[in-house]
Amino acid sequence: MDGAADSAGAAAPARFCGSRKDGRHCTRPLGHPGLHRHQGAMWTDAGADPLRCPGSGEPGEPAARLANGFPGGRAVCPHCQRFIAIDASGRLAEHDTSDSDEPADETTQRREWFNTHGW
Ligand SMILES: [Zn+2]
Ligand SMILES: [Zn+2]
Repeated sequence: MDGAADSAGAAAPARFCGSRKDGRHCTRPLGHPGLHRHQGAMWTDAGADPLRCPGSGEPGEPAARLANGFPGGRAVCPHCQRFIAIDASGRLAEHDTSDSDEPADETTQRREWFNTHGW
């Protein structure tokens, strides 16, 4: 037996599944069978949070700013109606359709922006 060939379990997997539920990332390896899991929580694909927003990579322009500067040069994603950073080529950064880690302040300011500038 060549011990060097048996590296299973020697290191943590470099890539994780990435499925999310309530903002928690599945901590199992990419492509694993069965339920997704994060500590005590388990979920199926059907129960997972929606992932990549189809607006990712679409062209975008910086939205008008409120008096306080919000949204700071980000663009409105036409799919998820959130403010998304624009990359150097003028396209919306990769993002999910929802972000449960979003600060309450962002939600409040987004509402104000849409009240000011309309849908
Ligand atoms: Zn998973
Ligand atoms: Zn989006």
